[in-house]
Amino acid sequence: MTRSFADRHIGPDRSELDRMLAVVGVGSLDDLATAALPASILDDSAEGALAALPPALSEHEALTELAALAHSNTVATSMIGLGYYDTLTPPVLVRNLLENPAWYTAYTPYQPEISQGRLEALLNFQTMVSDLTGMDVANASMLDEATAAAEAMTLLRRAGRSSSSRLLVDADLFPQTRTVLETRAEPLGIEIVEADLSGGELPEGDFFGVLVQTPGASGRIVDWTPVITAAHERGALVAAGADLLALTLVTPPGEQGADVCFGTTQRFGVPLGFGGPHAGYLAVRTAHARQLPGRLVGVSVDADGDRAYRLALQTREQHIRREKATSNICTAQVLLAIVAAMYASYHGADGLRAIARRVHGHAAALAAGLDGAVVHDTFFDTVLAHVPGGAEAVVAKAKSRGINLRPVDADHVAIACDEATTDAHVAAVLESFGTALSSENTATVAAPIETRTSAYLTHPAFTSYHTETAMLRYLRRLSDKDIALDRSMIPLGSCTMKLNATAEMEPITWPGFARVHPYAPVEDAPGLLRLIADLEGWLSEITGYDRVSLQPNAGSQGEYAGLLAIRRYHLDRGDTHRDTCLIPSSAHGTNAASAAMVGLRVEVVKCRENGDVDLDDLRAKIADHADRLACIMITYPSTHGVYEHEVAELCALVHDAGGQVYVDGANLNALVGLARPGRFGGDVSHLNLHKTFCIPHGGGGPGVGPVAVREHLAKYLPGDPLERGSHAVSAAKYGSASILPITWAYIRMMGAAGLRRATLSAIASANYLARRLDEYFPVLYTGENGMVAHECILDLREITKRTGVTVDDVAKRLADYGFHAPTMSFPVAGTLMVEPTESENLAELDDFVEAMIAIRAEIDRVGAGEWPVEDNPLRGAPHTAASLVGDWNHPYGREIAVYPRGLAHARAKVWPPVRRIDGAFGDRNLVCSCPPLEAYAE
Ligand SMILES: *Cc1c(COP(=O)(O)O)cnc(C)c1O
Repeated sequence: MTRSFADRHIGPDRSELDRMLAVVGVGSLDDLATAALPASILDDSAEGALAALPPALSEHEALTELAALAHSNTVATSMIGLGYYDTLTPPVLVRNLLENPAWYTAYTPYQPEISQGRLEALLNFQTMVSDLTGMDVANASMLDEATAAAEAMTLLRRAGRSSSSRLLVDADLFPQTRTVLETRAEPLGIEIVEADLSGGELPEGDFFGVLVQTPGASGRIVDWTPVITAAHERGALVAAGADLLALTLVTPPGEQGADVCFGTTQRFGVPLGFGGPHAGYLAVRTAHARQLPGRLVGVSVDADGDRAYRLALQTREQHIRREKATSNICTAQVLLAIVAAMYASYHGADGLRAIARRVHGHAAALAAGLDGAVVHDTFFDTVLAHVPGGAEAVVAKAKSRGINLRPVDADHVAIACDEATTDAHVAAVLESFGTALSSENTATVAAPIETRTSAYLTHPAFTSYHTETAMLRYLRRLSDKDIALDRSMIPLGSCTMKLNATAEMEPITWPGFARVHPYAPVEDAPGLLRLIADLEGWLSEITGYDRVSLQPNAGSQGEYAGLLAIRRYHLDRGDTHRDTCLIPSSAHGTNAASAAMVGLRVEVVKCRENGDVDLDDLRAKIADHADRLACIMITYPSTHGVYEHEVAELCALVHDAGGQVYVDGANLNALVGLARPGRFGGDVSHLNLHKTFCIPHGGGGPGVGPVAVREHLAKYLPGDPLERGSHAVSAAKYGSASILPITWAYIRMMGAAGLRRATLSAIASANYLARRLDEYFPVLYTGENGMVAHECILDLREITKRTGVTVDDVAKRLADYGFHAPTMSFPVAGTLMVEPTESENLAELDDFVEAMIAIRAEIDRVGAGEWPVEDNPLRGAPHTAASLVGDWNHPYGREIAVYPRGLAHARAKVWPPVRRIDGAFGDRNLVCSCPPLEAYAE
């Protein structure tokens, strides 16, 4: 029998599955489906639910199809600019970081003791951004430049003292930034006033904030100092968008007095990717550090007093405080932020400055050649040429030479230079204008823009890794500190850490996908557009919805887009009073945060003792809010890991009251091929392609969060960010397009039957774990027939009460056993949520079970008084190699500390690099950039 891709993706083989099903007490996967899911929502067969999916292909066949799609795209020389520039990713970073599973399969560093590698890399990112922008603190990271600008807007509003609801923006912002600002401003009642601020004057009236950009969309560089001074006098704060490469030469906004800085780090080695993914950034003055959305890495100490990194100011995202949330960003762009940081480490300050000078030199050569036709005389990389009536012809001539320029209007063409620009490109562009290259050599054109005097990137992180050998070892040294999927299962409930197959990953760096500009002419991207259309169709089929938009670049953004659609639907129908969103108490924090961002009031619906949504409370809440009801947001299966049997009734109650039903699709791994939210009552859902559909988590991003809707909401899906008023939610029309081949390949290689089998295998694995562990750690919630869905919650609260051993202790101890911990204290405090996924074979599942049973035995020894609560292998966990050296004053031995199951146990030993980290210490002493040199001398 030949083995299919599905056989390689799904961990347990047939005989393993039989053994698991016997433990669960069902005869077959089909019986499992009937036992676990409510009959009212169950589709009979994969053929019924997924009939339109093409038949499964092998890895090689799928890669052949993808190669054809990639080849049909035109990889032009991209001189379009607008925040997206070609870049030369150092091969050492492509192979050892971007294409390395030790980096891309890691999870968000919520377990900092086994995430020190990526935390250090992210601290480098923060240091790089704050150094280059001249700000005090930067986060890691934002989803793109436009959403970073939107987050800057709301930050200015809450950090400032002004009571104005007006935001002043310079007319030379990138158009996509302007569109996304408008989308985000409208539901919050923010009025955007646009003006040309280059003269330094502000228009009349009050503003809470001012947004400017360096360089502008037209390439123009303005000294914003007078605007910033005037804004401050007017009681407004100022946020400046800034290009990090330009900031190696020009005075950074931080030194001009700006309060906030935002932008993208794409051109630091991250491929264009037809729009993404790339890491956006946000940086602030110290005074606003606690207002920063997104993740912030900070320095703290571990139990031995050694330096250690962890996410600061939060156990989870500090800004996602349900309805009091200030942002909904959860998944960010960690992998891409690390690429950008490593690009800066590899080139160093001098290297970056040299690249910037070359880029500017080429732009200056263009300007010289265009003689007199250039609109602005101060520019970095982008030249705006004035060609009365000739723009179209010039762009067409350049196109015939393989170069994409940007027609601004009938009379203007913009040309952006980047790291990949050559003298030949400059000559070809000038030919398109009908002029010859100026006799001045590009390399010798002086750069009159070099106003920056302050030093940057002086830390050893940016001076030590300029050779390939040093960089190679640095990358290896960091990734060796972390547990990613290449070392262990990562049983994180709600996060679906399944296989990210190599065949799925291979295409993302192919030039046909990676080197296409998001605003390239459509005729350049037939393969990409085909792939996108395929995926939209397949995801519609899988979810039972009518239309899908791939634009949102994380689950949170899909939620935002979906709720925005609901809001606009009600408004269009004259239901202006419908402003209330019902959310069950168990919901993911992003749900309420997204609702708040679209201006909805959040009302919490109670859950019953058994974890289900309390339908009596729901009826009462519907009655209370009657004609104010906008929607309900539920997660299905619930975040309690259970298929609620009354879901159809719940949806009907809300619909009858005139509300819409939002089904959070983060748990779709429990539904694919079995049931479809678009058919059992949902009006809109977001999916997480980085959970269910194999995009790797990248250490905390990238993600893709498509929004799927029924027909009546289709016209409210986000539009083209280059069009004002399109309600776009990302800077690029198709969001993080370059990672869509991963999901395309997964669906193409699994086929309908494979997808359905994956779902059932995931459910089988979760139920197997639940049955085997229940006796040691009681499973908190089960549905009818005692079944869980694709994950289960282990309740440690009784154990903690009796023995003093906490979920933290168990989570950290798992690292000593070589495992990544499950999700901690979500959605119920004091519990662990375990999601094995379909990709783990029985040996790995059993090894995890045995580790958990062994841990339970350790807990019992603490409970029996054999070891004190304050000093036992659990509280002492994780144990480093260094902790074994020297005196050992513990009531347990060294061997049990680091080899709890004995030296003979086959599992590869993981050595956590630090002991338990003191988070509170770091929050009291907030340090969010690389510690100064003196700290290393200690
Ligand atoms: C992961 C998750 C989200 C948020 O998705 P991001 O991509 O991290 O923004 C929302 N809801 C649920 C239930 C989730 O598990």
